[in-house]
Amino acid sequence: MSRIRKIAFEEHFSAVGFEAYSKAFVGQIDPAAAAQLNARLADFDAMRLQDMDQAGIDYVILSQTGPGVQVEPDTAVAIARARENNDFLAAKVAGNPSRFGGFASLPMQDPKAAADELERTVKELGFKGALVNGHTNGVYYDGAAYDPFWERMQALDVPLYLHPFDAYGATYAYSGHPEIAGATWGWGVETATHALRLLFGGVFDRYPRLKIILGHMGEGLPFQRWRFDSRFAVYPNGVTLERAPSEYIGTNIVITTSGVCSPGALMGAIAEMGPEAVMFSVDYPYESSSIAADFIEQAPMDDATRHLVCHGNAERLFKL
Ligand code: MN
Repeated sequence: MSRIRKIAFEEHFSAVGFEAYSKAFVGQIDPAAAAQLNARLADFDAMRLQDMDQAGIDYVILSQTGPGVQVEPDTAVAIARARENNDFLAAKVAGNPSRFGGFASLPMQDPKAAADELERTVKELGFKGALVNGHTNGVYYDGAAYDPFWERMQALDVPLYLHPFDAYGATYAYSGHPEIAGATWGWGVETATHALRLLFGGVFDRYPRLKIILGHMGEGLPFQRWRFDSRFAVYPNGVTLERAPSEYIGTNIVITTSGVCSPGALMGAIAEMGPEAVMFSVDYPYESSSIAADFIEQAPMDDATRHLVCHGNAERLFKL
């Protein structure tokens, strides 16, 4: 099958020494599968490139697999390790710049340090933005303490990929049901809620050119836009926004198809937000590049839409 050009950007690696942060998560996976995942996360050569070639993926923006430094309790260590990780990634990108780009790891424990590291990686290392694994030890990024970070991100004109991780502390609703607490369901709820905290917290009113990327077909948010408007109008709880909630979803918040290879969900997301808000990605190595590629090539879209979703929107967003 001939492949349409694709760009993907929820594609993960792991830097040397970062395995310890992922241990609790990897422990849930069958050991043989975990060994295979770890081999793929560590590889920047034949395995990764062959997988990309077979799926027709021309270019990927790579990010450290979760949770990374987001779970580091010591702020100084998080700052140092994020920097190490970014220098490691920059060397890998420099080894194959026509196929690889980089997303920064950021020490969100310290908003000023995170902004400084973002600026360094964008200006000196040519990174395309950052990928952050949700809250940092229970702190979300809608508070005023993060305004200097958002201000810098907007000035640098790069997006933040808000990637899932576990909710902070045990969520009572999942008690007795670990199978729905993580990637199957809980991560999506957690990440969508974080994005809504940014939206209803007025971050996009304060920084209207900010772009937040959500994976997994927008973690469900595209499908609830109508209800956000309808219920927020009735229950504003003292909050005011410059626009209807739905208007931020598809403009400031854009999405990827990573890990949701469903034509119906894709059609719904495009119908809700328009063809410029939806972008292809895989979530390598946790998801199959060939399944994702077949899905996006066969989904019922016209050619113009397919080109936007597969590469055109990403080219615009990342100035490729
Ligand atoms: Mn992922």
